[in-house]
Amino acid sequence: MHRRSFLKKSSITGLAIGFIPASLFSQEEEFTVEELMGKADIDLYGEGFQAQKETCDAFMAMKAAAYQDGIDLKVVSGYRSFDRQEAIFERKYQQFTDEGMEPLAAIDKIIEYSTIPGTSRHHWGTDLDIIDGYPKVEGDVLVPEKFGPGGPFELMKQWMDDNAEKFGFYLVYTDQPKRRGFKYEPWHYTYAPVSIPMLTAFRRKNILALLEKEDFLGSEHFTTGFIKNYIQDNILDINPKLL
Ligand SMILES: [Zn+2]
Repeated sequence: MHRRSFLKKSSITGLAIGFIPASLFSQEEEFTVEELMGKADIDLYGEGFQAQKETCDAFMAMKAAAYQDGIDLKVVSGYRSFDRQEAIFERKYQQFTDEGMEPLAAIDKIIEYSTIPGTSRHHWGTDLDIIDGYPKVEGDVLVPEKFGPGGPFELMKQWMDDNAEKFGFYLVYTDQPKRRGFKYEPWHYTYAPVSIPMLTAFRRKNILALLEKEDFLGSEHFTTGFIKNYIQDNILDINPKLL
């Protein structure tokens, strides 16, 4: 199994991000298809969550700073493998079609919030779903209203708006009105110094061909046009600072 740390590659970008656009450095980066699609056996760090080393270190620094301001940053989802994403996708596909939805409608419903396996940014070990561990919360935590006015994570969201970028963390699926693809996810942050070069590397691969090769429940309904739209909207229509 392929196994190596991202540390060596990403430390170059980490040092450079303050004064040179990361995209200039991305020419130097090399990520394998397996790493980009959650199929590699990468080194993972973190307590109660998993991420690649630099993301984990930066998160711990941000967590310490937030703690001083009374916020308990907590990761509810970090690294996710291809197999895990496939299980999520197939479970939802089964559920929605069992409930009577047509296959294409079921897939459209799944991709409001969940990715097609192989295309999740959680595969990279750079993206984290973050909440505040202090407030008592009823029901699901990853609900946009809970991060808005009067919600239990309102303070945390304000703190992150003011501070996250100082630690390299950016929201991916913003609430800009014209953005397509995944819905607004006020909990999903990415560690940009590593994820920008990874997205650049992913874009250089033939994502369409890679996805057409996959075989899982529901994938037989993917047309070329559907996958092209998915790449444009769901992979690339994100916070423009991350492109
Ligand atoms: Zn997420």
